[in-house]
Amino acid sequence: MNDKNTGIGTRLSHGGISPQDHYGFVNPPVYRGSTVLFENTAALQERSARYLYGRRGTPTTDALINLITDLEGGENTILTSCGLSAITTAILALVKSGDHILMTDSVYRPSRHFCETVLSRLGVDTQYYDPLIGAGIADLIKDNTRIVFLETPGSQTFEMQDIPAMISAIKAHANSDRIFTMADNTWATGLFFRPLDFGVDISVQACTKYVVGHSDAMLGAATANARTWTQLHASFDAFGVCPGTEETFLGTRGMRTLEVRLRRHMASALEVATWLENCPEIAQVLCPALENAPGHDIWKRDFTGASGLFSVLLNPVSEKAVAAMLDGLEYFGLGYSWGGFESLVIPFDPSGYRTATHWDPAGPGLRFHIGLEDPSDLIQDLAKGFTRLNAV
Ligand SMILES: *Cc1c(COP(=O)(O)O)cnc(C)c1O
Repeated sequence: MNDKNTGIGTRLSHGGISPQDHYGFVNPPVYRGSTVLFENTAALQERSARYLYGRRGTPTTDALINLITDLEGGENTILTSCGLSAITTAILALVKSGDHILMTDSVYRPSRHFCETVLSRLGVDTQYYDPLIGAGIADLIKDNTRIVFLETPGSQTFEMQDIPAMISAIKAHANSDRIFTMADNTWATGLFFRPLDFGVDISVQACTKYVVGHSDAMLGAATANARTWTQLHASFDAFGVCPGTEETFLGTRGMRTLEVRLRRHMASALEVATWLENCPEIAQVLCPALENAPGHDIWKRDFTGASGLFSVLLNPVSEKAVAAMLDGLEYFGLGYSWGGFESLVIPFDPSGYRTATHWDPAGPGLRFHIGLEDPSDLIQDLAKGFTRLNAV
């Protein structure tokens, strides 16, 4: 099914399916397995069987691996227990003590926490860079630089990175043989952006978000190109961060509807974001798919769609007023994560932990995830929220 001439909807519907192996049933069953039995001693000792042990993979994980590898356009994929473990397993696949890594300052905060705790204890030095640095990334490369980590758009603040400019600058550098690039592709999924097509070595996704899509499981994936696959797989094998079988099945189920869900998330998010743009309470909408938003040109050039997650900056207003708005919302839950069918909102403020850039807007920030509700209901909910905000 990994045929580039076939449409993505077709590939997501037919990939990872092998009814002949499962008595004709459409879906691969959930193999709950640790032990795999071998026919005889010789077979056990040869280790040539397709499956050896549950941790190392089952037909259930293979189905999702095939789908994600196709979606991201890679050599192969590892599945892990969550998005964060996909990121940490991928980073640890490539670094050793004494190395230096370059991390975007807009990175998902738990990724940052990993660098500041585990990596620093192992003697790996993390340097944060301005997400908008572009080709200037080359000036930060040192002799011991091993990884350049990208995330676009940035977590919470939605900076769009110029990946083509960054990759060509890295590839032109004298040390390029020793440098690997990695992108957190959770926002776009391989559906709307394929980092490997742009020369990135590893694309990581928190499948917890859009792949699973229903806020009911934790799952991660990292897809490597041929250059990095052996190392990525060896790291997965060494750490034992395998996903649960049920979670893997939910990931495969989510992939079947990924395209229709994401197109609806995108359309509704654009509708809500456009409405917000015209609200007097809003200073700026940070949604790269909007024409007036920062990074729109890069988004338009490199991405084929947008998901349901974006932020806004409010005009200066008290915390109490923001709480009055958020606490009374009917359809927007207050909670972390995103990518499910339901709308969410959180206040955010990265000003305390950014180091390479300053985040200092005049008013508070809110991050929205637009779910699959009717956008008109969401807009009404927000309008009532602004009435409460203004009443404080
Ligand atoms: C949620 C998220 C992760 C981590 O995924 P988990 O499955 O929660 O561990 C990583 N990167 C980004 C951008 C995320 O939003």
